Amino acid sequence: MSPAIFEGFVPAEVHEHYDANDVYTGKTVVRRESEWDDDGRASALGLAAWEAMRCPSCRNYDTLVPIPTATRHVTWEEHGDRKAEVVQYRCITCGAIDVVRRDFTKKHEKKEPVPGHAAPADGRIFLAHPIDAEED
Ligand SMILES: [Zn+2]
Repeated sequence: MSPAIFEGFVPAEVHEHYDANDVYTGKTVVRRESEWDDDGRASALGLAAWEAMRCPSCRNYDTLVPIPTATRHVTWEEHGDRKAEVVQYRCITCGAIDVVRRDFTKKHEKKEPVPGHAAPADGRIFLAHPIDAEED
């Protein structure tokens, strides 16, 4: 969607009419109302802001903690010296999963898999959600 459409612009539709002999007989101009109003824009922008605060991996909300000392800049000489900044965050729930998965793997590392039987890690999925921000 273009910014103009989001701002409420709606292009007019022009329909030209011709008779059976292909002679132009006139036109109809259709002007529609925009689907976007101030409330709709505010909702969309709020949703975008909310989505930006979700972890791209676990999709939890408000779990990303910035690591400012890890910010780096990269210059691409082969692409006209284009520059990019890489910022790093720690997701507290993804990090918690890493801790639990690592402990789980360590605990079960000496168990030999038995053919035809599920090993402890088979099909195990680790999910996490923040519990410190939950309301009572
Ligand atoms: Zn995450």
